[in-house]
Amino acid sequence: MRYPTNKINLGGVLIGGDAPISVQSMTFTKTKDVKATLEQIKRLHFAGCDIVRVAVPSLEDANALEEIKKNISLPLVADIHFNHKLALIAAKSVDGIRINPGNIGSKERIKEVVKACNERALPIRIGVNSGSLEKEFDIKYGPTAKGMVESALYNIKLLEDLGFTSIKVSLKASDVARTVEAYKMLRPLTNHPFHLGVTEAGTKFHSTIKSSIALGALLLEGIGDTLRVSMTGELEEEIVVGKAILKDSGVVKEGVNIISCPTCGRLEADLVKAVEEVERRVRHIKAPLDISVMGCAVNAIGEAKHADVAIAFGKKEGLIIKKGEVIAKLKENELVDRFIKEVEIEAAKEN
Ligand code: SF4
Repeated sequence: MRYPTNKINLGGVLIGGDAPISVQSMTFTKTKDVKATLEQIKRLHFAGCDIVRVAVPSLEDANALEEIKKNISLPLVADIHFNHKLALIAAKSVDGIRINPGNIGSKERIKEVVKACNERALPIRIGVNSGSLEKEFDIKYGPTAKGMVESALYNIKLLEDLGFTSIKVSLKASDVARTVEAYKMLRPLTNHPFHLGVTEAGTKFHSTIKSSIALGALLLEGIGDTLRVSMTGELEEEIVVGKAILKDSGVVKEGVNIISCPTCGRLEADLVKAVEEVERRVRHIKAPLDISVMGCAVNAIGEAKHADVAIAFGKKEGLIIKKGEVIAKLKENELVDRFIKEVEIEAAKEN
């Protein structure tokens, strides 16, 4: 069961409580390059991103936010460290701010940022990273889960003491164990929603594995209200993997679940090519369908009984099976097209 957190509103996207778990990403342009940043935001939006974040390390970046916001419909978050003046400028145009109040400086500066966020009802994400803990926590605990949790509690208190509660929290480490431990340790200690992620998770291959293990483990325990898959790779991949984690952990009942066999010596067809083609051609389908693509009749009939649509490849031919009933026997090169057609028919029934 999902942990019952507070609900916050980030530019129209609700986070926490019973709101759907959103998928976020971040551009990697210089934010002051408005044209390039808008292009990346457009790509992320098209890929299905729910919330986009941009880095704001300089005054020029902060000043570019107004123009960026005017040209997009995705909620926009400004990522700011150390300089509260940049947060004050950003707060005039963005939908949310990611800071660590602890590295913003004096209480007066934090107060100014909170006032600016309150004026426009902007939420703040307290983004704790194991690699950049405040000195006092780093000295006392090192870059441990405990250190991350203590830093988060300290930062939460700074905001709550000012009466500010539109908060979400992230606790990111670059490895699975510390990330999971930190989120689980903090979960019973606050009701603010959590933004999940493993930071600096590496290339597509490693990030997919690390994020799937960590985020999957947390989601299965009902922890997590929004997430980002951090990846050294193409923008769209973060969204594809993030959505797949939500789907395959059973949190989201949307999209096609593909069952395919690992192949073996009984295989008489090019199954790898066929499954890749099927995966590509059903990616747009939102209906929650189970489809199966199997290399021979040994397991195909059993799997097909539970699938909405199935293919059982044979020698130069194969069967199309719907809800356990064989509906066609076709030549190998006709199977995928007919299969996709039948999947689309089933998807239309669900809409
Ligand atoms: S379905 Fe057939 S080809 Fe595929 S792994 Fe099983 S026995 Fe082998």
